[in-house]
Amino acid sequence: MNPPKETVIGHPVAAQAHAAGHVEEKHAGGQVSLEPGAVKSDKKGESRIRRWNVGNVKITSVMESADRIPWQAIFPAETSGLYKKYDWLVPRFMTPEGQIILAVQAFVLTVGGRRIVVDTCVGNDKPREIEQCNNLQTAFLKDLTAAGFPPETIDTVLCTHLHFDHVGWNTRLRDGSWVPTFPRARYLFGRRDLEFFSKQRHEATHREAFDDSVAPILDAGLADIIDSDAGVHREIGDGIWLEDVSGHSPGNLCLIAECGGERA
Ligand SMILES: [Zn+2]
Repeated sequence: MNPPKETVIGHPVAAQAHAAGHVEEKHAGGQVSLEPGAVKSDKKGESRIRRWNVGNVKITSVMESADRIPWQAIFPAETSGLYKKYDWLVPRFMTPEGQIILAVQAFVLTVGGRRIVVDTCVGNDKPREIEQCNNLQTAFLKDLTAAGFPPETIDTVLCTHLHFDHVGWNTRLRDGSWVPTFPRARYLFGRRDLEFFSKQRHEATHREAFDDSVAPILDAGLADIIDSDAGVHREIGDGIWLEDVSGHSPGNLCLIAECGGERA
């Protein structure tokens, strides 16, 4: 996959939207100002907003964080020089020193009057076993609002899978309780992931995320469960549908947008 020049930094484990067309960039609630293409390693308070179109679908990405992590945290150490074969990786996806730039971000799709948030990052105030994700205090929600998407205007939230870094902003802390961040939205969860993560209790970060970011949505009656058996394509309307891409998680879903002659 050779991304276009102005693509966003992709989260390697997320369903990825491909950039096309014009990209704007602005900063709202973040404490830092970033040059286009630059990535700050300080996690907390970092923010970035990007916009582009794919056919009739308007896509906005709101970045929660971008960390630099060692190659061998994800890939075998003996392959650590491979990135040099692909010059487009540096500096947007890799540092010149060979560290991976791991971006956590949400995508907002607007099409046919709908506003769909795809994946909700790590979230604020969440106790997490992974130190750099523990009790984040980022400007994500402020940025989302500044980008034109106050939480109450979102009608659909899709969690492509239920890992902790894709469900966090499903909820936020209010008076000591986890309440839905997007009170007017239907939240879409894949059935197989839901069944798996409701029972798995051995990986602390995913267990914690299920309890504070998925269960409260179920309790609030805001969830729609997607049957995600292999081969199932689930239409969600306006040229957008879901496909099963299980593997990374038991019920991983991929969102496809094909509208106005282009496909993301
Ligand atoms: Zn994941």
